[in-house]
Amino acid sequence: MDLLDLRFVQALSSELRDGVRIVKAEVLVQPVECPLCKAADPYRHDSREQEFADAPIRGQPVRIQFQRRRYRCRDCGKTFFEPLQGFSAKRNMTRRLVHYIARDSLIRTFADVARDVAVDVQTVRGVFQDFSEWLRENHPIATPRIMGIDEAKRAKVLCTVLTDLERREYFDMLPSRKAKPLNDYLRKMPDKDRVEVVAMDLHQGFVTAIARHMPKAIRVADRYHIARLAQNAFDKAHVAARKELPTGERLAMFRKRGLLALRDRRLTESERAQVAAVLSPFPLLLATYESKEAFLTIYEAKDRQQADHALTRWLERLPVEISVYFRELTSAVSNNREIILNYFDRRYTNAFTEAANGISKLLQRTGRGYGFEVMRVKLLYGKRGQVVDLTNYDNDEGPPAGQYGYAMGMVASSGRKAGTTSGKPQRRGPAFSRVDRLIGEGYYDVGNDAIAKELTPLIDQFAASA
Ligand SMILES: [Zn+2]
Repeated sequence: MDLLDLRFVQALSSELRDGVRIVKAEVLVQPVECPLCKAADPYRHDSREQEFADAPIRGQPVRIQFQRRRYRCRDCGKTFFEPLQGFSAKRNMTRRLVHYIARDSLIRTFADVARDVAVDVQTVRGVFQDFSEWLRENHPIATPRIMGIDEAKRAKVLCTVLTDLERREYFDMLPSRKAKPLNDYLRKMPDKDRVEVVAMDLHQGFVTAIARHMPKAIRVADRYHIARLAQNAFDKAHVAARKELPTGERLAMFRKRGLLALRDRRLTESERAQVAAVLSPFPLLLATYESKEAFLTIYEAKDRQQADHALTRWLERLPVEISVYFRELTSAVSNNREIILNYFDRRYTNAFTEAANGISKLLQRTGRGYGFEVMRVKLLYGKRGQVVDLTNYDNDEGPPAGQYGYAMGMVASSGRKAGTTSGKPQRRGPAFSRVDRLIGEGYYDVGNDAIAKELTPLIDQFAASA
């Protein structure tokens, strides 16, 4: 068998030069017609030396060198090279090298892949970028009807994550949370008229970009994000109260912190008594606790009108002495009251914490030495990556921090409260393989080729058309 095993190419000689296998070869077929005007019988014009990179043979990077013949058309006078099969039309490399790079970039760093095939990192990155764009074009992910927009931290950089809250899948990711890339993206987003609802936190860049590019979509503030602002108010008051105490008492108060973070109505009688005992010496802290609880109760409103009234009443009754702790919340209310109240018309939420925690964990794991694009492809096209677990998500506190993977969002039950039918938390969505378990299994680890295996049919298609 020929060393190269490429159709219509014959290896003539082979030598090792600086660790790279150089194969001199010739093309065995001649053109019978002009590729441009189809005129028959073009004639030999001249030849040029050309070099192509190929996939490694026995661990050695390979270069194929041709003295490649050039022909001229008798009719149109254009010149063209003899035809090659199995070579990329875009880059000086074989299609099987394109395949090799696309596949291995999913499991190793660009730098490692580049070293193994003796091309520069930019070329590897470029091939992977081509693959990513090819996926976007040929296997587009349908624009969601109910979209979630969220942020996640990758290393120390914030990313924007777009999700399909109905299908509970990733829709897309941007390597930044800045307004400009988001606006550029949304401007070009296909079928954006399809988006009816966008669940979001109230990051101002999101709020204005969605309004601008999807004016008909209803923006809904994620209730868990808003609830967190209320909880933050209490935490601030708690810190302030603790600072006034001698060290021993500070510690005792700190121990009660878990209890204080629970919703009041979830407490047992004895726990409620403990909370009252902890809070009673601190009138401001107690007032903050009560205001926080009162705010969270607004979310029990039956409809928008009721919620609207309750919110007005809450703002009126907020004691001025503790308003400083609630500033984040009250400014969110005054800036984006409509978006907060929209929740009572369209009860969608964005699993904010879970998304932020889980995706960040994942990004840390896959992020080492990877391009953002690799991670995006893994998450969007690795089908296990799209599995979303919403177990126990539908409750007032949101998910316990760090306990769950990265549920992307859910449809809140309208009217009926979760967890009340069986006494146990309701299971929603696919109750299997949590993403944190996938992380634990090393699914996204460097060197784990599970995703590469999954994507091989797509890589085959891509390389065949490269
Ligand atoms: Zn011609």
